[in-house]
Amino acid sequence: MKLRVRVDYSTYSALKEVEEEYREVLEEAINYGLSNETTSFTRIKAGIYKSEREKHKDLPSHFIYTACEDASERLDSFQKLKKRGRAYTEKPSVRRVTVHLDDHLWKFSLDTISISTKKGRVLISPTFPKIFWRYYNTEWRIASEARFRLMKGNVVEFFIVFKRDVKPYEPKGFIPVDLNENSVSVLVDGKPTLLETNTKRITLGYEYRRKTIITGRSTKDREVRGKLKRLRERDKKVDVRRKLAKLIVKEAFESRSAIVLEDLPGRTPEHMVKDIKDKQLRLRIYRSAFSSMKNAIIEKAREFGVPVLLVNPSHTSTVCPVHGAKIVYQPDRGDAPRVGVCEKGKERWHRDVVALYNLKKRAGDVSPVPLGSKESHDPPTLSGWLRAKSLHSIMNEHKMIEMKV
Ligand SMILES: [Zn+2]
Repeated sequence: MKLRVRVDYSTYSALKEVEEEYREVLEEAINYGLSNETTSFTRIKAGIYKSEREKHKDLPSHFIYTACEDASERLDSFQKLKKRGRAYTEKPSVRRVTVHLDDHLWKFSLDTISISTKKGRVLISPTFPKIFWRYYNTEWRIASEARFRLMKGNVVEFFIVFKRDVKPYEPKGFIPVDLNENSVSVLVDGKPTLLETNTKRITLGYEYRRKTIITGRSTKDREVRGKLKRLRERDKKVDVRRKLAKLIVKEAFESRSAIVLEDLPGRTPEHMVKDIKDKQLRLRIYRSAFSSMKNAIIEKAREFGVPVLLVNPSHTSTVCPVHGAKIVYQPDRGDAPRVGVCEKGKERWHRDVVALYNLKKRAGDVSPVPLGSKESHDPPTLSGWLRAKSLHSIMNEHKMIEMKV
C-alpha cells in the first residue's frame, strides 16, 4: 500500500542522503553478485559488508543489509529475464531506487512513521487512505519490511505491506479444479461446471493484433511501442486469473474444502497446446492458461488458509473414474470432440469432467462417482462468471435458466 507524504526540506534532504548512499551500496552489491556469480543475499552480504561499512560510516548499518537483499532480488529477477531472453542489458541497471527498510530502520505509529537516517530519525506524518483502515482494523498486520521512494516536490512515497498468518484448516471435502486452454472446470457439490476463460483464443487474438501492428516496422518505434502497450494483454489476463482464483478459493473456504490441482510443470509438456507451431506462442498460452492460473489459485488459497493438494497429472482425462478402463475419444466427433466413450461401460464422458473425478480420487476421496448422468458428458459451460459474487450464485442462476428453457 502506497502512502504519499509531503515533507519539509530538512526531512527530505536527510532521506535524500540515505537514498544516495543506499544506491552506492546497492550498485556495489550487484557488481559483487555478478562477478562472483551469485544471487544469494548471505554471500553478497558476507562479501561486501565490511568494506561498505568502512565507506559509509554514519549510515545506519541495516541499510547495508537491506541493500544486499535488494541486490539479491534484482539479480534473481535479472537472471530469470535472461533465461527467457528478455534481458536487454549486460547487467541489471539501477535506474530508480526504492530504499528498502527492515524493522530496525523504521517504526510505525498512527501519528508518525519514523525512519533512520544519517542524522538520526526523521518523522513523516501520512494521511491514511480508506483502504488502509479496511486492513488495519482486521486480522491483517503491518509487516516489518517497508520501502520509500523520493519524488519531486519534497514528496515521499512510503510503501507498507500488510500480512496475515492463517493456518490451513483440516479439509472436510475436495474441490477439484481442472485447467484447460479455454476453460477452467470445477466440481462443486458434486456438480461439474466449466467456466469459460477463452485464454487461448484471447492470446491468439492478441498475437494477431500484435503482428498487424509490428509488420514492417521496428518495435523500437515510439508509435509502435505505444500501440503495443495499449493492447494491455497482460493486465486483462491477470484480471481474469485473479477473479477466477478468488471465486474458487472463496467457495473452498466457505465449505472448508481443499482445492485439488494437477501438479503441472513450469515448462510446456509435449502433449499440450500442440496444435500451435510457434514455440514462443505455445509457451505464452501454456503459461497463461496453466502455470500462471495454477499459481494464482495457490497464492489466493494461501491468503485464505485453504489447503491445496497437487496431484499427479498423468492420464487424468483418459481413464474412466468408475471402471478404470480407457476412455476413447474420436478425433472427429464433430461438435463434441471432447466427449469420449468408456471402453468397458460404454457410457459417455466429457474430458474435463473425467479429469475432475480423477483429480478428486487422486486426492484421496473415496465417495462414489455418479455413472452416466447428463452432466458427466454435457456439463454446463458458463461464460458470464467474471462479475459473479460466488460460484454458487452463478451455478444456481444457470439452473434457473435451464428450467425456464
Ligand atoms: Zn466407465
